[in-house]
Amino acid sequence: NFAERSEEQVSGAKVIAQALKTQDVEYIFGIVGIPVTEIAIAAQQLGIKYIGMRNEQAACYAASAIGYLTGRPGVCLVVSGPGLIHALGGMANANMNCWPLLVIGGSSERNQETMGAFQEFPQAVRSSIYGRPGACYVDIPADFVNLQVNVNSIKYMERCMSPPISMAETSAVCTAASVIRNAKQPLLIIGKGAAYAHAEESIKKLVEQYKLPFLPTPMGKGVVPDNHPCCVGAARSRALQFADVIVLFGARLNWILHFGLPPRYQPDVKFIQVDICAEELGNNVKPAVTLLGNINAVTKQELASKKSLPMNYYTVFYHVQEQLPRDCFVVSEGANTMDIGRTVLQNYRPRHRLDAGTFGTMGVGLGFAIAAAMVAKDRSPGQRVICVEGDSAFGFSGMEVETICRYNLPIILLIVNNNGIYQGFDTDTWKEMLKFRGATAVVPPMCLLPNSHYEQVMTAFGGKGYFVQTPEELQKSLRQSLADTTKPSLINIMIEPQATRKAQDFHWLTRSNM
Ligand code: ADP
Ligand code: MG
Repeated sequence: NFAERSEEQVSGAKVIAQALKTQDVEYIFGIVGIPVTEIAIAAQQLGIKYIGMRNEQAACYAASAIGYLTGRPGVCLVVSGPGLIHALGGMANANMNCWPLLVIGGSSERNQETMGAFQEFPQAVRSSIYGRPGACYVDIPADFVNLQVNVNSIKYMERCMSPPISMAETSAVCTAASVIRNAKQPLLIIGKGAAYAHAEESIKKLVEQYKLPFLPTPMGKGVVPDNHPCCVGAARSRALQFADVIVLFGARLNWILHFGLPPRYQPDVKFIQVDICAEELGNNVKPAVTLLGNINAVTKQELASKKSLPMNYYTVFYHVQEQLPRDCFVVSEGANTMDIGRTVLQNYRPRHRLDAGTFGTMGVGLGFAIAAAMVAKDRSPGQRVICVEGDSAFGFSGMEVETICRYNLPIILLIVNNNGIYQGFDTDTWKEMLKFRGATAVVPPMCLLPNSHYEQVMTAFGGKGYFVQTPEELQKSLRQSLADTTKPSLINIMIEPQATRKAQDFHWLTRSNM
């Protein structure tokens, strides 16, 4: 009769399959038998791909790799007893790899409590992907598979949301930034946690913006391509042995990384650990900084925090290089400015770079720039001249800015300003020094007046002047200067007064140094 027909029945197997489908499970690997065969069939009917394997162990390895590759757990379907025992190898492997995995086993007995097990599916999915990913086991009582229940009596849990993104404590982020900034021989180690976290873009940015050498672990390979110039995979042992600061992005200090201990590492190497698992932090070594959180989010935090600090040479040149027209003349002078600039700023044409030359002369820059601008004007209109000056070097011929303005040459002058020759002081230190030493204060010979507004030398004569302190300001002012072909401009770029050259060629990792 009608009333009876509306009470549509559904098997436990179908309920399980639907619950998996609701959780976005795409693949099931397994070996069927009593009582799980019906589950595999029901899953196939819902479009879930079932792959029958020859041993549960391989099935479980396969399912766990799905978890690593997709971020949603793959399912391993096994029978009770030996089936589950065989799957244990895969479960342990998934756990050790921190890969999400759902193992569903048919068991022989049933008690009332496990009725609730259906409702536990979402929780199983959640614990497999939240926090440190890993394996989960769901036990399905045998008679449950073939039990018929009223369709209306079943309520599937909603698809479990992707894990919430956690970020590290702000003060730790700042500390880490300063430890990296002060490192002489920094090294990033990129592990499979970084791969799982899809942190490729942010880590690549960090590597490039600060010219940090990196070493991938076996499965961290490819997060940043192996052929990247900052990859020091070929000098692995040496990199580990001589780094003074090591940032671990989702890589544990286990046997693969020689436990982080001497003699494979410097005894006083500073580790910065980035991991989603609190229990992992401080394992084997006492880290200098711990960053608990999602690798992608933490890397972005690092990028943001480093941006807010005074820029260093690499940050400046990275942003300049981004916008530099390929055909431009690059004129440069200064100490660090010229040396570091040369390694980052690219030349694509012959006779398009002019610098302090054989005699190492300071004060040649503006004259050279004026000459290049005249040649450009007469022979290839529109071609730009970029003159990259240290603040001290600029001082040697700064008044030629008047000449530049008088002839209206659209030269772009960049002053990389660290308040001194080689290095200077920040305003606070400068004031402290004057206060401390009083009227008779002796000014250190390398110091120049902090925060000098050299851009006003340009505005004084009608050109465009910019005072920039952040990468955003630098990008914007450079874009404007390049767009304006009618006027000269001067961008006064404030950088960290104590900024120095990093071992950015990774000298410590090259043959000649061995
Ligand atoms: P490798 O073998 O490449 O060195 P490990 O397996 O030792 O990598 O380390 C991976 C680490 O990544 C684990 O400690 C794990 O907790 C962590 N991890 C996994 N996913 C994330 C994530 N999304 N964010 C941060 N850490 C993660
Ligand atoms: Mg590791």
